[in-house]
Amino acid sequence: MHSLPAACRNGAPDLVISAAGEEGIPAEDLARVIARGWAVIPANPRRKHRISAIGACCRVKVNVNIGTSGVRCDTELELEKARAALANGADTLMDLSTAGDLKGIRERILSLDTPVGTVPVYEAVRRAGSAVDLDADRLFSVIREHCRQGVDFLTLHTGVNLAALDALRKDPRIMGVVSRGGVFHIARMVNTGEENPLFAEFDYLMEILLEEEVVASLGDGMRPGCHHDAERLAKTTEYLTLGMQAKRALELGVQRMIEGPGHIPLGQVSHNIRMIKELTGNAPLYLLGPLVTDIASGYDHVAAAIGGAVACMDGADFLCMVSPSEHLALPNVEEIVEGTRVCRIAAHIGDTVRKTGKDRSDRELAMAMARKDLDWERQFETALYGDVAKRIHERDGDMETCSMCGDLCAVKMVKDLLAKEDKKK
Ligand code: SF4
Repeated sequence: MHSLPAACRNGAPDLVISAAGEEGIPAEDLARVIARGWAVIPANPRRKHRISAIGACCRVKVNVNIGTSGVRCDTELELEKARAALANGADTLMDLSTAGDLKGIRERILSLDTPVGTVPVYEAVRRAGSAVDLDADRLFSVIREHCRQGVDFLTLHTGVNLAALDALRKDPRIMGVVSRGGVFHIARMVNTGEENPLFAEFDYLMEILLEEEVVASLGDGMRPGCHHDAERLAKTTEYLTLGMQAKRALELGVQRMIEGPGHIPLGQVSHNIRMIKELTGNAPLYLLGPLVTDIASGYDHVAAAIGGAVACMDGADFLCMVSPSEHLALPNVEEIVEGTRVCRIAAHIGDTVRKTGKDRSDRELAMAMARKDLDWERQFETALYGDVAKRIHERDGDMETCSMCGDLCAVKMVKDLLAKEDKKK
């Protein structure tokens, strides 16, 4: 049984040395924050792949969800989306497939060079036939199978318990529960009156993850699904449970991160992030959204990027890509590319305000210098997505300035003026 946080108390193991190298930080610094539970490295020992550390000292990471649904089940298409996501800045993938040969689809996604996460309750419910018929043994057995297949991190809705259900009943929300995994557990609790096994048998669950060396991502099954629900009690009740579980998991030597917080008005992002960080002992925070408006349909990737960048100022560590088709349809390849790029920009903005190894201002300065020099090639090389910049700039032909101000280019006028002055000296 190997506990990375425990091992990190005695120095930096090889995995931590490699991850620290990727981040450009001293391995001892990364080992220190992993030992404290402030960072994790999802790296199932059964697979070899590119490493991404998540949390304190590390750059903000981007996850992209892919996966089949009951309406669209095309494994090749999901693989195409997975490759497109990785090519456009995703650090990790989550396979959220709910239709087709789930094990076979997972096998294909696990063959890619990246950490992969899953939500085992989806498959457990498919096998049981319905959430109501799901028993604890089946759920734990599917969790073990995902670990043994090589999955690196698992979303587990351990905070969706009878107390959260009680809060939902006493302080109702417009959207009820919008997390698929959350709803499965709610349905089971409502029908049986029994506690969610992931909550009731939390120590046993952590024992599995410790044995299998897999990261627990404690899910936000009670996240608000609209701004009007953001201040209701169910979410806060879940935060308190996740806080206690985050501490217990670390005591047991398990690497864990926390998920949150859904649809939240911009003015509430900061205190929600701080509250989660405080309650969980600064556990790495994996964000779904936060969507800072409910009416940007078709542009939810932009709403999530704004929320994500702001959340990074208060310590969010890991952003889950939201695509333009969020709330509307299963995304296509183009929407995955667009969503991933916009999320990567939010993560970069987050990095510019975080204390991480590499100085993120270098690239900002390089762009300013290239713009000052009207050096278009250098601008394209420095831009996060230079291919798009080049295509837009070149559509009006090859020119020294750009077509925005043309002959009245302020940059060129100042450049020429200063050059004349320099000559006079
Ligand atoms: S033409 Fe206008 S927008 Fe284009 S580089 Fe010059 S100042 Fe900037």
